[in-house]
Amino acid sequence: MSENTSNFIHDFIDEDLASGKVEKIHTRFPPEPNGYLHIGHCKALVIDFGTAKKYNGLCNLRMDDTNPAKEDTEFVDAIKEDIHWLGFDWDDRFYYGSDYFEKTYELAEELIRNGHAYVCELTPEQFKEYRGDLTHPAISPFRDRPMEESLDLFRRMRAGEFPEGKYTLRAKIDLASGNFNMRDPVLYRIRYIEHHRQGTKWCIFPMYDFAHPIQDALECITHSLCSLEYEDHRPLYNWVVEHCDLPSTPRQIEFSRLNITNTVLSKRYLRYLVENNIVDGWDDPRMPTLCGLRRRGYTPEAILDFIGRIGVAKANSMVNIGLLEHCIREELNMKAQRRIAVLNPVKIIVDNYPADKVEYFEVSNNPNDPEAGSRKVPFTREIYIDADDFSENPPPKFFRLKPDSEVRLMGAYIIKCGEIVHDAEGNVTEIHCTADLETGAGTPTDRKVKGTIHWLSAEYAADTEVILYDRLFTEENMNELPEGKTYIDYLNPESAVKCANVKIEPALADAEPGEKFQFVRIGYFAKDTKNENTFNRVVSLKGSYKPE
Ligand code: ATP
Ligand code: MG
Repeated sequence: MSENTSNFIHDFIDEDLASGKVEKIHTRFPPEPNGYLHIGHCKALVIDFGTAKKYNGLCNLRMDDTNPAKEDTEFVDAIKEDIHWLGFDWDDRFYYGSDYFEKTYELAEELIRNGHAYVCELTPEQFKEYRGDLTHPAISPFRDRPMEESLDLFRRMRAGEFPEGKYTLRAKIDLASGNFNMRDPVLYRIRYIEHHRQGTKWCIFPMYDFAHPIQDALECITHSLCSLEYEDHRPLYNWVVEHCDLPSTPRQIEFSRLNITNTVLSKRYLRYLVENNIVDGWDDPRMPTLCGLRRRGYTPEAILDFIGRIGVAKANSMVNIGLLEHCIREELNMKAQRRIAVLNPVKIIVDNYPADKVEYFEVSNNPNDPEAGSRKVPFTREIYIDADDFSENPPPKFFRLKPDSEVRLMGAYIIKCGEIVHDAEGNVTEIHCTADLETGAGTPTDRKVKGTIHWLSAEYAADTEVILYDRLFTEENMNELPEGKTYIDYLNPESAVKCANVKIEPALADAEPGEKFQFVRIGYFAKDTKNENTFNRVVSLKGSYKPE
């Protein structure tokens, strides 16, 4: 979706440009401010902003606050922040759908006057009952109400004379249409609910299908790009644009929604997780929200790379979450500096190393980036290694530290396992070793040492907490769950495993919030932006998913 790529939407746009139907491309991104943006929105906004960019056009940011329920300025601010973070901008073209309420109302009155809309008084139950089916048209006993009467009722609806549900305004289109959206759809309904920007000014609210095309046309949007569930609404979109006096004729084009394995991408579900404290807020590092991914350690580059790779298609599909993980892994492999961390430390005492001695070994900051340089790490008599790198009863082919054998300490000496000390419960508390002080960081010529493990000086290491994040859900396809099950039944109990007693290189204690590293042999980690002394696992070093 960069300026150079093309897709079926761009093919349509090319046609419209070639035929002279449009001159300058103008798109919009219309999020509803009732939650935080997630990676699915990201696909939509990359299409909207990216298409404008490709054609040297414009893209508006419009808060779709037509529906008065549950909107909040917290969400508006967060949406702006997330779009900027991805590198897109709307300049001064920031709008609220609700700012068009007055104009939308005027257009509705105009439809009534022109005989294209009428006030209906079917109850919601009757409405359903009279909808008809594929072989029977809908029934609407009020569609021939005289224009003056509809106009009077509509004005009184606005004035607050009637209770909710008493009347609706409906378009007069086609009760027999095979497309149910065209069977005299509701344009306005009565709702006594405070609007986050309009306060109590309105007690009638336009339906999305009426408001959205009007908003697009008023902003002179040329191409209204949206997800596939709006395809069946396109005839109504076009009807509204055609029957209302509007300054432009936008073209709606639909693309497939993004679905990702082991993930839910519905604000309603995400909100539930937040409100019920199943996760630690919208920016919990396991959330598919942009703020969650950012806190986890994802970069805009990796997310945009992912969106570019999945492409823009017309058919809905499920994308493997492994691809997203692959994108950040690939980027951090090139960019992240290497550091040492011991997640589950066990102490080694190098018996033949002087207690008061310190020496420094030089290690590379990033073998993939010569400019990253190197740093010196201190070696002392007492060091930590990871408990996983030692086995008292090793399985076959265990090449790390085991009784009576040798292992290479990464960038330093070869050590040989000696006495193993246990506590009363039989846990290993420390391991005595001897180092081959002759070879230093070199390789011995008289024997082969297979394993290499990482280590930290016990004297110099700092302490931290690490959280090993993993997928939030255990099921691949969270869209098709067995009957009687909900997504809550598939929460991964190991989606956030805390390691409380982690040893790290001393300089890591001063890492900036959000700074990212590769912990050698473990994975990629980001310093948390909320908790002072925590590192979040972004992604493991290797994944089982292989992109094509
Ligand atoms: P949700 O179901 O998460 O509440 P929504 O469609 O109600 O999503 P909006 O804020 O209305 O959320 O979405 C703004 C834009 O983002 C719309 O154009 C919508 O089509 C698009 N969008 C939302 N989710 C996805 C997705 N998973 N893939 C692609 N586009 C999406
Ligand atoms: Mg929506």
